[in-house]
Formats: sequence, C-alpha cells, structure tokens
Amino acid sequence: MKTYKIAAIPADGIGPEVIAAGLQALEALQRRDGGFALEVTSFDWGSERYKRTGVLMPEDGPEQLRVFDAIFFGAVGAPDVPDHVTLWGLRLPICQGFDQYANVRPTRILPGITSPLAGVGAGDLDWVIVRENSEGEYSGHGGRAHRGFPEEVGTEVAIFTRAGVTRIMRYAFRLAQARPRKLLTVVTKSNAQRHGMVMWDEIAAEVSREFPDVTWDKMLVDAMTVRMVKAPRSLDTIVATNLHADILSDLAGALAGSLGVAPTANIDPERRYPSMFEPIHGSAFDITGKGIANPVATFWTASQMLEHLGEPDAARRLMRAVEKICADGILTPDVGGTATTQQVTDAVCDAIRGENL
Ligand code: NAD
Ligand code: MN
Repeated sequence: MKTYKIAAIPADGIGPEVIAAGLQALEALQRRDGGFALEVTSFDWGSERYKRTGVLMPEDGPEQLRVFDAIFFGAVGAPDVPDHVTLWGLRLPICQGFDQYANVRPTRILPGITSPLAGVGAGDLDWVIVRENSEGEYSGHGGRAHRGFPEEVGTEVAIFTRAGVTRIMRYAFRLAQARPRKLLTVVTKSNAQRHGMVMWDEIAAEVSREFPDVTWDKMLVDAMTVRMVKAPRSLDTIVATNLHADILSDLAGALAGSLGVAPTANIDPERRYPSMFEPIHGSAFDITGKGIANPVATFWTASQMLEHLGEPDAARRLMRAVEKICADGILTPDVGGTATTQQVTDAVCDAIRGENL
C-alpha cells in the first residue's frame, strides 16, 4: 500500500475549521479505497505563533516541509497582524521557496449552487485559471524612499523573465490541450504596460506554435472581467500574471457561487519539491468559530492533491461526493443553505462510503 506524507498547516481563522473537514473526508476516502494511506503531520504555524515568538514559522520551516509529498494549507491572516506580514511570513516563502510556479484554479458551478449570473447554471461555466506564481508583481522587489516625508516615493517592481513566462505559458497550453475544448485565453495589460506585458504576448505566440491544436486568444485584463461576466461560455483555460490571476480568480469564485467553493493548487510541475493545496479564500474573521465555513473549496483542493499524488480514482470519488451533497441541497449559508461545516462534512463522508458513488 502506498503511503503519502502530508504536512497540514491549518493556520488562522477558519483555516483550522476547513482543514479539519478536509482531513475527515480524506480519512473516509482512504478507508473506502484501501489502496493508499495518508500520514498527516500538523504544524501550528500562523499568526498565534507570530504573536508569541515573532515569526509565523520557524526559520527551518521550509526544510521541515521538504520531506513531505504534499502540503495541505488552510488560510493565513489575523485582524491584529498586518496582512503583508502574514502573507510574506508563511504562504509566499513556501510557494516561492518550493518554486510552485503554476497556481491552478478550477472554477465550475456545482449542481445545486446558484451563480449570481442570470441564466448561468451548472455546466455553463467551466474554467481553469492558471496563475503565474513565482514572479511578476509579487516578486517582492521595490522600496520606499523619504519615508513619511511629503516627497515620499514607493515602488512595486514587477519582474518577468523569459524563463518564467515561457514555463507558465507551456504549462497553460499543455493544460488547455488536455481539456476537451482546447481553448486558451492569454491575459495581459500590454496596451498600458509595454515591457514585460508585451513580452508575455510575444512568448505566448512563440509557445503556441508547439501546440497547433490549441485555439488561443489574447485579452486585456480589464476587458477580461467584462467577458467573464457577459460571455462565460466563451472561456475555458486562462493564463495570467500573479496579480491579474489573483484578482480574476476571486471574481471567478464569486461567479461560481462563493469564495467558499473555490480551490487552488500551487504546483511544482517538475516535482522537485512538495506542492501545496489550499482553498482560495482567506481566514474569514467574520465567520471564524461559528461553525459555518464552507468546506467545499477545501474538499476540492484535497481532490486536486490526490490527483497530484497519483490517486485519480479517489480524487474523482471525492468530487462526485461533493457534487452529490451540493445537488441534495446540503449547503452552508454562503451558498444559500443552512447546514453547518460539520453537517456538510458528515454528508460528504457518508457519500464517500456509499455504494453507488
Ligand atoms: P476572506 O476570503 O477571508 O473573506 C472574504 C469573504 O468571503 C468574507 O465575507 C468571508 O466570510 C467569505 N468567505 C471566505 N471563505 C469562506 C468560506 N469557506 N465559507 C463561507 N464564507 C467564506 O478574505 P478577506 O476578508 O479579504 O481576508 C481576511 C484575511 O485573510 C486577511 O488577513 C487576508 O490577508 C487573509 N487572506 C489569506 C489568504 C490565504 O491564506 N491564502 C487569501 C486571502 C486572504
Ligand atoms: Mn487572492
């Protein structure tokens, strides 16, 4: 029997609530499948640790994670710690340290869930957003001069490298090629930004020649938001920069019903390091501790994790279970239901154990 080592980092806010739910579903899948086992180690890294010790994770944190097959991450962020401290203290060092350069964000309207878009239902919106996850606007470069003075200047430097853009473009074309419609939309802002963004367009055209069976087009990011709302069926696979895809994927999550159903995988496609799986949402202070966090995004990303580990049957079973309970109307309040996190989780575990799934 194959055993996979999983590092769980529930972290802050509703992170521990949804990770607990995800682990219960994974446990039910292992029992049902019998062909694999997960050995889970939990880490107490996050904002509480920062308040106690001044750091979110120990200095050798990435070194500790290296031996795992995958990382299962909740959310980071606390009301009394600046967001740039929490993000740069935990999540980004893992993504960037392990060169998880492909951030993969599938969006679908699950059965039983209502999109805010009129007339758009299950099956009408089926996208995968590929977010460049290692450079661009979040490369961490920039600075501030004359701090506090009227002449103060702050810069945020976006860095795009030929190697970085080429590898994400290849990843996106390959993913588009593997999907039935073989359709890719490349998003930039190459009218106003005429250096790195124009390079994106040029590299997209170069890489497209390796994938003659993929139909592709280009969009400016502002127009893209309109197309996502007005013509969702015209899109399939989407590739964009770190910042642009961050924003577009929150919109995508909302159009699919709620941020609470939107998953993400931070992948090192070369498998040199562990990849990291997490819901898109943050720590959601407004609902923390109320027992109503939607665990569906975390189930979905657990399915992405199983797929990545090489357990596609278990991955599909988990998504079928999620689709079944959504269709049955067992939903948390963010998607119009009255169920608690635990009720949804119990229903998913029951469905996993069910014979006819
Ligand atoms: P958020 O995603 O935490 O919440 C936005 C809204 O969506 C809230 O109303 C929240 O209740 C709702 N929501 C989110 N997830 C939900 C779920 N599973 N079920 C039901 N409702 C859900 O974003 P925010 O409020 O902007 O940020 C809160 C904190 O989270 C901040 O500190 C921010 O920096 C952090 N954050 C972390 C991550 C991450 O760890 N990857 C991502 C985004 C935000
Ligand atoms: Mn985001």
